[in-house]
Amino acid sequence: MGQETKPPVLSLEDCLKQAEETKELILKPRALEEIPGLLNKFFSNKGACLIADRNTFDAAGRKVREILEGAGIKIAWEHIFPGEPRLHAEYSHVREMKSLIPALPGYPELVPVAIGSGTVNDLVKCAAHELKLPYLCVPTAASVDGFTPNGAALLMDGFKQTVPCAAPLVLAADTEIIARAPAFLSSSGFGDLASKIIAGTDWIIAEKAGSAGAPQAPAIDPLCWAMIQNGLTDALNRSVKAARGDSEAINTLFKSLAVTGFAMQHYKNSRPVSGTEHLFSHVWEMEDLSLNGVPVTHGHKVTIGTLAATAFTELFFADPKGPPSPGRGFTRPSREDRKAEVSAAFKGSRAHDGVVKTAIEKLMDDQKAETVNQAVRDSWKELRDKVLDRLLPYAELRALLEKAGCPVRPETIGLTRDYAIATARRAQMIRNKYCILDLSWDMGNFEAILAKIEGSGAYLR
Ligand SMILES: [Zn+2]
Repeated sequence: MGQETKPPVLSLEDCLKQAEETKELILKPRALEEIPGLLNKFFSNKGACLIADRNTFDAAGRKVREILEGAGIKIAWEHIFPGEPRLHAEYSHVREMKSLIPALPGYPELVPVAIGSGTVNDLVKCAAHELKLPYLCVPTAASVDGFTPNGAALLMDGFKQTVPCAAPLVLAADTEIIARAPAFLSSSGFGDLASKIIAGTDWIIAEKAGSAGAPQAPAIDPLCWAMIQNGLTDALNRSVKAARGDSEAINTLFKSLAVTGFAMQHYKNSRPVSGTEHLFSHVWEMEDLSLNGVPVTHGHKVTIGTLAATAFTELFFADPKGPPSPGRGFTRPSREDRKAEVSAAFKGSRAHDGVVKTAIEKLMDDQKAETVNQAVRDSWKELRDKVLDRLLPYAELRALLEKAGCPVRPETIGLTRDYAIATARRAQMIRNKYCILDLSWDMGNFEAILAKIEGSGAYLR
């Protein structure tokens, strides 16, 4: 064997420097004790507003209050959402904060302090942004890739949307608190991290398609690639025990998830960190997927999406000689037929009009699509090698996810297998962000691949 040179893994500090908005991340045991110092250093400090839910308040909020009071920092407002039923990221909560905070003494120099990584953080992030207040985040779990990016996933009029808003200026993450988080939250974070494999393979595919004229298919940004992809497999292997509370594993998982947000702050959109797998989860988010009345976590939906996307990618690139042939009798639909197809797939959904618009916007004319397809066929070996080099084979991925306590069967998150597979059709329609589903759809082998997944004894079982 020749000498293999591994690409350099960037440190957390180096990645933080690339973040446009976040200035500091303290990650260590007893990090909460640093909050008074952070407030003095980074904020014009006339008092703090603590926002938590009952669970995150018990995990960290009470301690933050104690520390602030001990340091003589005024708590201008404290708001604790109920812990049960699980808090939804409803925009109405943002509206409420927006009406209450400006009436408090000390405004507009108050500092919102979000106690929580997921929903609480998304709500505070959006409210703080709309009130033009920089905020501080106290993550309580490594549960999601969303605590550091400049955007929040919110339900607006019943429809989950990513709302652009400023990232936390500062984060204080206490590793002991994060390690005590419930196992299902850490396994959710693990699944969200595993999804970065597909973000990588999709970017390789998009770069090739984009070079031949496909829309929303940018070339790979080497810095963002290095931030997310170098060391990803290693980070996954090292964080596999996170859901069991292993502190080393939790640390690695938390750092890797934090970096995804820094890459998004640098790149200004989600291309470096999400692909086909998040499209599956977005569809299930629109449907408010829950199991026995409890909403399925973002990370667990993404986990099943990652398995589905891996199966799809693996089958697309199965043959060293070339991509799967188009199905018999395949013809590309006209604009009108496509519009009718997408409209029917989202009939009755609040997302209907937006999805129809997006699907038509990204529809390439036949000639352009053929140019892209030909470019892929012409460079098949090189493209296939690159993608398979990044992709974790399905069986290995499944074993890793299972070891990490993640769901690996659609039924575990309340979906039938057939329904999970069929979601690929709608996942392909919802975003103008070139991925494997688009390439396969344009080549006419989309249905043939879905049929192979359906008929397989291994995929999504
Ligand atoms: Zn995610």
